Amino acid sequence: MKGGKLIIFSAPSGSGKTTIVKHLLNQPELNLAFSISATSRPRRGKEKHGEHYYFMTLSEFKRHIKNDDFLEWEEVYRDNFYGTLKSEVDRLWAEGKNVIFDIDVVGGLRIKKKFPDQTLAVFVKPPSVDELKIRLKKRSTESDDKINMRIAKASVELATAPQFDVVIKNYDLDTALEEAHRLVADYIGVEVKNKI
Ligand code: 5GP
Repeated sequence: MKGGKLIIFSAPSGSGKTTIVKHLLNQPELNLAFSISATSRPRRGKEKHGEHYYFMTLSEFKRHIKNDDFLEWEEVYRDNFYGTLKSEVDRLWAEGKNVIFDIDVVGGLRIKKKFPDQTLAVFVKPPSVDELKIRLKKRSTESDDKINMRIAKASVELATAPQFDVVIKNYDLDTALEEAHRLVADYIGVEVKNKI
């Protein structure tokens, strides 16, 4: 595998990384395409197969693991597997795109290790674990149990921040969006076009 650049955004759930990734996807000069992950977790809200995720059963997911189809995969929460299919990155590279990932910290660091020379790994830091709790509750797409599971994982994830190429503090969204845009443009080697 070779091709364009890989841009990874990792962070605890609720840090705002998805919002940042969406913003970057709207910047044409960055020439980014979103890496659609595979997951065995159930669909939430308005999520669509083949747009937000490739939803699959646990046994389908395990079959892909056995076939060595994944670039990386993780059991992010119990029985909830997530992974990046090699075929997905190949597909986007074949379109001449730089690929952007919204994945967990372990998966993000794994991809960085596999492609050290063409990967920018960004960690998005939330203001505090309490603020994360508030954001996840506001989103209210999941049960309290699931939210608590995500919060318990957040502290472990926060400790991995120093292993990333760069940490963006998402204390103020507009500032974080602008910083992310500038960073990725610099890495790819293009001029920032639209400021927010
Ligand atoms: P959610 O269930 O909120 O969509 O995602 C839960 C966590 O799994 C998030 O941190 C998300 O970034 C991560 N995730 C999504 N896709 C992948 C993937 O392909 N690989 C890994 N390792 N994590 C992923």
